[in-house]
Amino acid sequence: MIPFEYKDVHIEAIGRGGIETCYIFPRFQIAFDTGRSPDTLVDIPRIFLTHGHLDHAAGLPYYISQRSLKHLPPPEIYCPSEIVEPLTQILKLWQKMEGFEYEIQLKGIAVHDEVNIQKDLRVRALAAHHRVPARGYAIIRKSKKLKAEFLSRSGREIQKMKERGEDIFEERDIPLFAFSGDSTIEFLMENEEARQATVLFHECTYIDDKRPVSRAREWGHTHLDEILENEALFQNEKIVLTHFSKRYTRRFIHQVLEKKIKNKEFLKRIFILAHDN
Ligand SMILES: [Zn+2]
Ligand SMILES: [Zn+2]
Repeated sequence: MIPFEYKDVHIEAIGRGGIETCYIFPRFQIAFDTGRSPDTLVDIPRIFLTHGHLDHAAGLPYYISQRSLKHLPPPEIYCPSEIVEPLTQILKLWQKMEGFEYEIQLKGIAVHDEVNIQKDLRVRALAAHHRVPARGYAIIRKSKKLKAEFLSRSGREIQKMKERGEDIFEERDIPLFAFSGDSTIEFLMENEEARQATVLFHECTYIDDKRPVSRAREWGHTHLDEILENEALFQNEKIVLTHFSKRYTRRFIHQVLEKKIKNKEFLKRIFILAHDN
């Protein structure tokens, strides 16, 4: 697992293309994808699956079973609505083989659906484009902002209006974190939340010319060259590139990125989440 920190939020991440993907946010008590179910996942009660490929979801029965054995409350599992049925079937068969019943809540999620995770925090499902039904996700903070017409008023005036119960605030969505899951570059183009998230986790399965853009697109993935072509769209403070093909070593990934990314300001914002295979 690779620890990733942003301010006071700590994330335990695994992002190995074709092998395992799992992002755990202990602070929010949620995770995106189960991967092969790392030990620390078991204590997390809420999972958001991006899609049904085994590198992202194979750990689901194990995770559910481990929670049952530990007498933890039934987990809440969110997944693309298209895979609720096959997942239910698989879980039924595992229950039969294990000889006991799992208590779970499996909920299908459509693009733009939202789930409350804390008083002012929601997870929103985003459109992703892969070879199978897929979702990306964003963690959104709801915050109140003074309406534009009151911006020039003094603090005292604002206070008085507040006391009079006047409607001077409007709700604003702040995307804190966004995840592409497995997707072509359209994830970035179609989702404002992804472009504006403070921290964006974007897949970057292929980076070299041996596996060109056409191949990435054919397999529903993103190539580094497409990320660079769309550099101007990334408004993020941090861009975490992940899900690199297992053919690349960390050293090679660093070398290619240093060479290909001419804009050093852009390079500075990039965090390479890659494992030594
Ligand atoms: Zn994958
Ligand atoms: Zn996939």
